Amino acid sequence: MMNPIDCHFHIGRWKEEEGLSSSLSDLSSLIESGCLGGAAVMTTDRLENEALFEEIKGSELENVHFFYWAVPGSRKDIDFIKSNDEVKGVKVHPSLAKKPLIDKGYRGILEAAEEAGLPVYVHCGRWKEMSDYTFVLKAAGIHRNASFIVGHFGGKHPSTWKGLIDDIEKGGHDNVYIDISEMTEFMLAGRAVSRLGSERLLMGSDYPFSHPAMYIALVNALDISDEEKENILWRNITKLLKTKN
Ligand SMILES: [Zn+2]
Repeated sequence: MMNPIDCHFHIGRWKEEEGLSSSLSDLSSLIESGCLGGAAVMTTDRLENEALFEEIKGSELENVHFFYWAVPGSRKDIDFIKSNDEVKGVKVHPSLAKKPLIDKGYRGILEAAEEAGLPVYVHCGRWKEMSDYTFVLKAAGIHRNASFIVGHFGGKHPSTWKGLIDDIEKGGHDNVYIDISEMTEFMLAGRAVSRLGSERLLMGSDYPFSHPAMYIALVNALDISDEEKENILWRNITKLLKTKN
């Protein structure tokens, strides 16, 4: 079996979270120990995209995929995504940008992702006006050729987790995937698998905020088949990364 691929792994130092930082060597240790087989890697709120991009390009690590953290309205970000083949995904953070995903400032970013066949990772969280998961479902309906990853299972609250499962079950949304990071009720994760299929879920840790071993344990604790576990742990994200045009 392949080792798990983390769909949400940060590298760098944080502005807001005092002293919190992580490095490429953290990831390489996790790979060496067999905890992970790789990761989708993104910068921090310092938005040091280019430095991280170069660091990853220069490293020997396999299965480490760079996601560009784009800011709404930035022409420079769109150009970078379009002109660098080694960009494997896009990350946006509506709460930090203070703009919901339906804001027109994201349009160029989402179109660039569609054109290049890149998955778009969207932070979802408690600030509903900015980061409600329903905005992701809306954007996914408009930008049909991009795949969207709903961050943190829609946001850190059981009613949100339940709502997300209901809404995806009702609406179809076949280009929407769910990152399980920050979700702490394994019964609900099991419910998501039985109602939406294991193809929708992705193991993510949001490292360094959580350790991937926590979410790998959650997946392994589920009463589902080995094949379903493997889908969540590495197969789904691997497919998403390969859809690039
Ligand atoms: Zn994150």
